[in-house]
Amino acid sequence: MAWKCTGATNEALIKNMAGHGLINSERVQAAMSKVDRAHYVRSKASAYEDSPQVIGHGATISAPHMHAHALENLLPFLQPGSRVLDVGSGSGYLAAVLHYLVTDTDTGVTGTVVGIDHIPELVEWSVDNLRRDNLGAEVDSELIKMVVGDGRAGYPPSAPFDAIHVGAAAPMVPELLINQLKSPGRMFIPVGTGMQQVIQVDKDADGNVTQKELFNVVYVPLTDRDKQF
Ligand code: SAH
Repeated sequence: MAWKCTGATNEALIKNMAGHGLINSERVQAAMSKVDRAHYVRSKASAYEDSPQVIGHGATISAPHMHAHALENLLPFLQPGSRVLDVGSGSGYLAAVLHYLVTDTDTGVTGTVVGIDHIPELVEWSVDNLRRDNLGAEVDSELIKMVVGDGRAGYPPSAPFDAIHVGAAAPMVPELLINQLKSPGRMFIPVGTGMQQVIQVDKDADGNVTQKELFNVVYVPLTDRDKQF
């Protein structure tokens, strides 16, 4: 079904996805419509296919329907003013969509998005992509902050986070990331070395942590920098 959603334009892609039930939230649809995927891929000809795409350095931009699933799962914690961490930020695409979900232009309430990736060349490219997509001012004011680092340790200077998205599969849920979740807060993280499953980690208002298995996936591993490629 995913492949049917290919569009000639970004708008057509997102509309087709909504029409096929791959996007069910109006807020997610509106935010994804604002981010032109062509700015975040290497092959512009395939930009509006609902499929993953290799972006170099052993990394892959996820398929749009996978981004939509992740965003809809985290949505209750993506409110104007929320603080979000995107681990394995790769192309910067998700950081851009997350920015629109935590920012309300009518009221002027702005949230913060931190993207972290351990490949410096990808972080540099993601910043270029965001600038091409008219988000240069947000990068300069650090409403969207793209940093180089090991995402398994989170990003303590901006913690705690309402929501944490992990875009690579970890062997287990990193404790340091759970520690950087707000009470309440939610993390979306693929886990597993062979078979991978997305785990939803919830921290409630009292700090109690629960985990729920969502669905099977295939992601690039969350690993050491010298082990990627
Ligand atoms: N979500 C992104 C990229 C997904 S690919 C997108 O859709 O564009 C997974 C990313 O995780 C890669 O960019 C890879 O460099 C990064 N990654 C893997 N292990 C990491 C680690 N330990 N710390 C930070 N980033 C990591």
